[in-house]
Amino acid sequence: MQILYKSTRGNGETVTASQAILKGLSGDGGLFVPVSIPKLDIPLEKLADMTYQETAYEVMSRFLTDYTEEELKNCIARAYDSKFDTEEIAPLHKTADGVYFLELFHGATIAFKDMALSILPHLMTTAAKKNGVKNEIVILTATSGDTGKAAMAGFADVPGTKIIVFYPKHGVSPIQEKQMVTQKGNNTYVVGITGNFDDAQSAVKKMFNDQAMADELQEAGYQFSSANSINIGRLVPQIVYYVYAYGRLLKSGEINCGDKINITVPTGNFGNILAAYYAKLMGLPVNRLICASNENKVLFDFFRTGTYDRKRDFILTSSPSMDILISSNLERLIYRLTGEDSQKCRGLMEALSSGGEYTITEEMKEGLADFYGNFLSEGETREAISATYYGSGYVIDPHTAVAAGVYQKYLRDTKDRTPVVIASTASPYKFTRSVMDAVSDRYEGLDDFALVDALSALTGIPVPRAVEEIRTAPVLHDTVVDAGEMPETVRKILGIR
Ligand SMILES: *Cc1c(COP(=O)(O)O)cnc(C)c1O
Repeated sequence: MQILYKSTRGNGETVTASQAILKGLSGDGGLFVPVSIPKLDIPLEKLADMTYQETAYEVMSRFLTDYTEEELKNCIARAYDSKFDTEEIAPLHKTADGVYFLELFHGATIAFKDMALSILPHLMTTAAKKNGVKNEIVILTATSGDTGKAAMAGFADVPGTKIIVFYPKHGVSPIQEKQMVTQKGNNTYVVGITGNFDDAQSAVKKMFNDQAMADELQEAGYQFSSANSINIGRLVPQIVYYVYAYGRLLKSGEINCGDKINITVPTGNFGNILAAYYAKLMGLPVNRLICASNENKVLFDFFRTGTYDRKRDFILTSSPSMDILISSNLERLIYRLTGEDSQKCRGLMEALSSGGEYTITEEMKEGLADFYGNFLSEGETREAISATYYGSGYVIDPHTAVAAGVYQKYLRDTKDRTPVVIASTASPYKFTRSVMDAVSDRYEGLDDFALVDALSALTGIPVPRAVEEIRTAPVLHDTVVDAGEMPETVRKILGIR
C-alpha cells in the first residue's frame, strides 16, 4: 500500500515520502503526516528474532513506500553500523526494580538523536536522487544541544549538502558545546545565538516559510531542508526502536506475545514520544505513553487542563535538551485530535504563535487518554539519579532521570504494573557535572574531563569514543549572533548577496 503525506495545515494535497523528507516542513507552515498509519502486518513473535536492521526495514518500509527495497536496505546498512558501539544498536538494560531502560545513546554523539540522524542524510540524498534535485541541500537546524551535533555527525562531508546549526550560547552543557564547536567537515557551520532554543527554532521556521529567501537560494543553486524532528525522516526511524524493544522483551521471555507495555519518554519537542504513539497506532501492544517533562512543564499542564500555554518563563535546567516551551511535534497529535481538520489545526497553531496559547475542546481532550503527563523539579531529578544509582548501581543522565522519576509518580498515581520501557536518551557521559553531583558531593570542583574520568572509575564503563575525541580537539567554530541576525548569517555562509 502506497503511503502519501499531507500537511497538518494544508488543503489535502499530498506528496510522496521522499518529497516530504526533502522539504522537511510543508510550504504552508504545517508538518507532514501520513494520510493513514500503516499496520505492522507481521506476526509479533517474529520480532523476537529480528536484528535492529531487520526491524528497521519492516517498520520503515511501511511508511516510506516510494523507496525501493534496495534503497531502503542500503540506507539502513550505512546508518546502523560500527558508528554504534554495540551490535544491538539499542540495548535494553533491566534494573533491580524491574524497569527496562532502552539505551538510545550508543551512536556517534551518545544521545538518542543519533538513532534518526545517522540515517536521515542517506534518506535525504536518496530522495534528492529520486526526485531529480540538482540544488545543493542546505540543512538548517536549531538545537537545544543534542540535535545539532548528531545532525552534523550525520551530514559532515556528505556530497551535495551543507549544514548550518544554531544553538543557544548559554543553554547547553559544556560537553555538548565542545562537541559542536569542534565539529570537523568542510560543509558544517555552527553558530551560537544570544537567545534560547525557542528563539532559534522560531527563527529557523520563519526562514523555512520565507518565500523571498527560498527564491534567493534557488537562484544560487541551494534549497533548505530540515534535520529537526519535524522532518518525517526523523520520526519514522524513531518508531523502530520501540518495536525492537518489544522484540527484545519477547526474546528474553520478559513478556508474552501480545502483552502490553508502557513507554516512558523524557520529552521536549514531542518527537520521540510521538514515534512511540505511532508505534502503538501501527499495532504494537502499548498501553500508556508516559510523557515526562522537566520544570518547563508546558506539556504536563496541557494534558491536565487542555490549554497549551507557552506564556511563562523559560527555565534552564540540568536536562537542557528538554528546555522547550513550544513542542513542535505536538502539532501532529493536535491534528489527529481535530479529526484531521487542517483548518482547525491551523487556527490553534496561529493562536499559539500570536497569543501564546490555545485550548482544545473536551472532545479532543478525550483523545489524550493514551497519554499520561507529569514533571520533575530539579531537586527531584537529582534524587532520581541518586536513587537509581544507589538502588541498582545504574547511572543515568538527567534527561533519563526525569523519565525515571515521572514513571515513579505514574506508579504512585495509577498502581499500573504494566511492564515499562523507559527511553534512555543520553549517556551520563554527556552530563557528567549533574550526574556526579547527584551521586555524591565528593566531586565538587573537578573540571569536566576529570568528572568524565571519575564517572568511568565509578561505573567501570570505558569513556565513550565521542567524549575521548573532544578532550583535545581544537575549537573550529566561534561565531555568536543575535537571533534576529540569523537570516543574514545564513546568507553570509552561503555567499548570497
Ligand atoms: C532531544 C532530546 C530529548 C527530547 O526529545 P524530543 O523528541 O524533542 O521530545 C530528550 N532527551 C535528550 C537527551 C535529547 O537529546
